[in-house]
Amino acid sequence: MSQHNDLRSARLAAISRKYRKIERPKDAKGVPQRITEYYGENTFDYRKAKNIPENVKKELNEIASSNKPLPKELADVVAKTAMEWAIGKGATHFCHWFQPLTGSTAEKHDSFLDIKNGEAIENLSAGQLMQGEPDASSFPNGGSRSTFEARGYTSWDLTSPMFLIEGVNGLTLCIPTAFISYTGQALDIKTPLLRSEIALSKAATRFLKAIGQETKGVHSNCGPEQEYFLVDELFFFSRPDLVMTGRTLFGSLSAKNQQLDDHYFGDIDDRVMGFMQELDYELHRLGIPAKTRHNEVAPGQYEIAPIFNNTNVAADNNQVMMATIKRVAHKNHFVALLHEKPFAGINGSGKHLNWSLSTEEGDNLLNPGDNPETNYRFQAMCSTVIEALYRHGAMIRAAIASAGNDHRLGANEAPPSIISAYLGDTLDKIFAGIKDGKKAATNSDKAMDVMTHQLADLAKDNTDRNRTSPFAFTGNKFELRACGSEMSIGLPLSILNGAVAEVLNETAEFIEKSDKSADEAMQEVTKKWITNAHPVIFNGDGYSDEWVKEAEKRGLPNLKTTADALPMFMDEKASGFLTNQKIFTKDELQTRFHVLVERYNAIREIEFGTLIQMVNQHVLPAIISFKNELGGVIKMQKDISFESSVETGLYKKLNYSTETLYNRVENLQNGLKELPEDGQKRSKIIADTLMPLSEEVANLCGEIEEMVPDHLWTLPKYYDMLFLR
Ligand code: ADP
Ligand code: MG
Repeated sequence: MSQHNDLRSARLAAISRKYRKIERPKDAKGVPQRITEYYGENTFDYRKAKNIPENVKKELNEIASSNKPLPKELADVVAKTAMEWAIGKGATHFCHWFQPLTGSTAEKHDSFLDIKNGEAIENLSAGQLMQGEPDASSFPNGGSRSTFEARGYTSWDLTSPMFLIEGVNGLTLCIPTAFISYTGQALDIKTPLLRSEIALSKAATRFLKAIGQETKGVHSNCGPEQEYFLVDELFFFSRPDLVMTGRTLFGSLSAKNQQLDDHYFGDIDDRVMGFMQELDYELHRLGIPAKTRHNEVAPGQYEIAPIFNNTNVAADNNQVMMATIKRVAHKNHFVALLHEKPFAGINGSGKHLNWSLSTEEGDNLLNPGDNPETNYRFQAMCSTVIEALYRHGAMIRAAIASAGNDHRLGANEAPPSIISAYLGDTLDKIFAGIKDGKKAATNSDKAMDVMTHQLADLAKDNTDRNRTSPFAFTGNKFELRACGSEMSIGLPLSILNGAVAEVLNETAEFIEKSDKSADEAMQEVTKKWITNAHPVIFNGDGYSDEWVKEAEKRGLPNLKTTADALPMFMDEKASGFLTNQKIFTKDELQTRFHVLVERYNAIREIEFGTLIQMVNQHVLPAIISFKNELGGVIKMQKDISFESSVETGLYKKLNYSTETLYNRVENLQNGLKELPEDGQKRSKIIADTLMPLSEEVANLCGEIEEMVPDHLWTLPKYYDMLFLR
């Protein structure tokens, strides 16, 4: 069968798929169950389990929030109850589920089967719940351990609920764990995040105490907005670049893409809606509070956001959410692309991290209340966060560095690589007033007049939206918008937490040492931070070239690529605050640097290799077929003495692009051969020389795609991937 027929039948199949229907459980009257009836049915949280005695729960809670060791007897109660619950649901296996530095999650399954006195029994012991021993040597370790100390441990995280994952033929109980080396090094994302929560809680509790407020503890919250694309699987599996790298390495942009802004919040088509409904259902069963779903800006792009949670659980949930998006997409014959930039020329995907701090009693420290101009605690908190961003912007930038995210940051669709803060009108006026020693004139009109009476009153938001800012204050939280869609959110969150914890300790110290009233001291410290950190506040257009120049004048770092940003992990000036607060050890930072550099290099090298293969196996053969067709016509015209410049013109144009393409591919191949061994040097050459070269190759392929007739082009096009479903 010719390729023509292949692609055509794929197109036909993609648009005529039968929609998948799932049966949501119904009540006696045949009405589908409410969300609250199945919410969390696939999670196990000892704190909520009916079969666990209250005194056991209380003891475990105390252990989870202190340094006390966990007695085996208590763990045994949880292990037995969790196992019975899981088996009751049809589970046969359990696993320690963790987040190594691969960027995704890892799990090693064990069955509940045990043999006792020759008899088969089911068992989950306290020891098995508390600790696992996966071989650490095959996980990225940045060369930090040699194989003889390859032992690693996974350790049960009491604060994140267990959950069931459904395979085709059974269920597995997943126990969230941290992953630690034999020598106590954090080999994962979770451990430093948990440490950062401790640092933050200490600092915030100290701050509250200094202003005369008591709390049991403080934690950070995160609500990550997850963007993704859906592509029919028939197209996905015909694009080696999507399969190998998660993004298209070239492709000519369809004439209509996102210019009309008609996809954003648009009507959701039936097939996608079916997918979203199934996704929400599965997430709700897993106790992941999916809340918002909508079409995003680019065609084929969507977003889902959960209700925020404490950052540790939010980070676990986000990983499960990404895996569930992929799994449910697959059941609907889609492939979900979580890559930051699957298609050139249209928007990529990010993950906005909505972040706030609240006490265990539920008091949000970033809530401005009705009178932000006299809410001194709020002002002190907010200015503390701004100062933290100013001091540690480079490290925050490094935490969101990845090959995929490099395509977004600074590409006029996502916040730039320069980390700045956007405060919105109200807050900006208040802080400007404090800085200049004037009382703030704030807008007193709380309701908006829309000149209609049919509509409900609209409350005027204290913040405007500035989508070009990487870090924006949005009402009662900050929103870190520069995180990539595919990333684990744990790393950026632990670094943000650490940055804020450092400054918050200083804020507390300032107030402790002041002989003024708490209110006055808070005003003074706010003034101090705002005066100092003023350069990091930017309310203008973050996409503009002027901002790049202005930021340079202000002395803000502009770490353009991952290769520029990652060395911050090794730079004591940039990362010292993390070691000082015991969030990372120096070794752990070094490990992350090496792992992330290696990862960046490997991803790019896979991309280059795939690109070269696709040129050889798809683009050049398509050109040759077309030349063959054209040549036939040119020859025929010559035979009948007919003169036409069209075919020869096309032939020449095609030939010119092809020769350039051939030459650039050769350069890329040679460049790859000459890459130095040293990871950091390698990454610089990749970022600064080979990437631009590969982009040239991509552009040439796009040009050629536009010249070659559709029936000779063997790869699904943007048209197919973005519009046909
Ligand atoms: P947007 O309008 O920015 O797209 P969404 O509704 O998509 O907003 O997402 C907002 C996210 O912020 C949600 O996950 C929400 O739960 C979260 N959020 C709301 N309040 C807070 C808060 N105080 N702290 C952290 N996250 C919050
Ligand atoms: Mg949103």
